[in-house]
Amino acid sequence: MHELTDQQLIELHRALVELRRELQKQLEDSTDGAKPISLDASIGRLTRMDAMQQQSMVQANRRTARTRLTRIEAALRRYHSKAYGLCVECEEEIGYARLKAQPEAPFCIGCQGNRETRDA
Ligand SMILES: [Zn+2]
Repeated sequence: MHELTDQQLIELHRALVELRRELQKQLEDSTDGAKPISLDASIGRLTRMDAMQQQSMVQANRRTARTRLTRIEAALRRYHSKAYGLCVECEEEIGYARLKAQPEAPFCIGCQGNRETRDA
């Protein structure tokens, strides 16, 4: 029981592939920024603090990107096993509007809400 049309599925699949590529690129491009900062005395203390702040931001962004990438890859696996678009918890339709906003969404809005209440 799939409410999504073939056209919508193709569109969402394309969005997932596109997002995966962007995130992979982002992770590749930020490898340098995440490297440990050398304690070379030739850079001043303030510069080093800037660099450390910059680095922790890069690392936080990389963590976010990796988490999202994992969800996207899981969504692509569901797509290939014909389970895409169904909530992994209750197997109800997630709905096109929600998937369009977040193609990697694993839960329907109800289950997502339950999880957030439970985790809070
Ligand atoms: Zn659900």
